[in-house]
Amino acid sequence: MRVGFGYDSHRFEEGRKLILGGVVIPYEKGLKGHSDADVLIHAIIDALLGAAALGDIGSHFPDTDEKWRGADSTKLLEAVVAEVRNAGWCVGNVDATVICERPKLSPHIPAIRKRLAGILFPGEEDGVNRISVKGKTNERMDDVGAGVGIEVHAVALLNKTSS
Ligand code: MG
Repeated sequence: MRVGFGYDSHRFEEGRKLILGGVVIPYEKGLKGHSDADVLIHAIIDALLGAAALGDIGSHFPDTDEKWRGADSTKLLEAVVAEVRNAGWCVGNVDATVICERPKLSPHIPAIRKRLAGILFPGEEDGVNRISVKGKTNERMDDVGAGVGIEVHAVALLNKTSS
């Protein structure tokens, strides 16, 4: 088995939708980015790619490529899950911590876990129990604590497929 770690951060920007884990979160601002700026999915992608030693999100989906402008990050995650599978790995579990002062994430965590489980563990009944998403504030410290943006840390475990 292999473990991987992923990190991402994005700044808030007016006039954009806030999307976390493929779920639209009602809030006054969204996140700035070349794609849909789904910071949670980006961190999970880097954890998966890291565990499989397959590079990082920037090498797969460069933000200099117009192809990925406004990209739906759930599609990027689907592509990475397929690549990891093709390399002989299956996803064991994923655990992520999302850090922001606002909005309050707890009401949205069940929907986010369900959405991510559908991508990471399609058709697997216990999928949602293998994806953990935790929301925290930064206790008003530093830029994240001042509400400048959102940071995510994620880990993923991969198991070698038996064939
Ligand atoms: Mg990102």
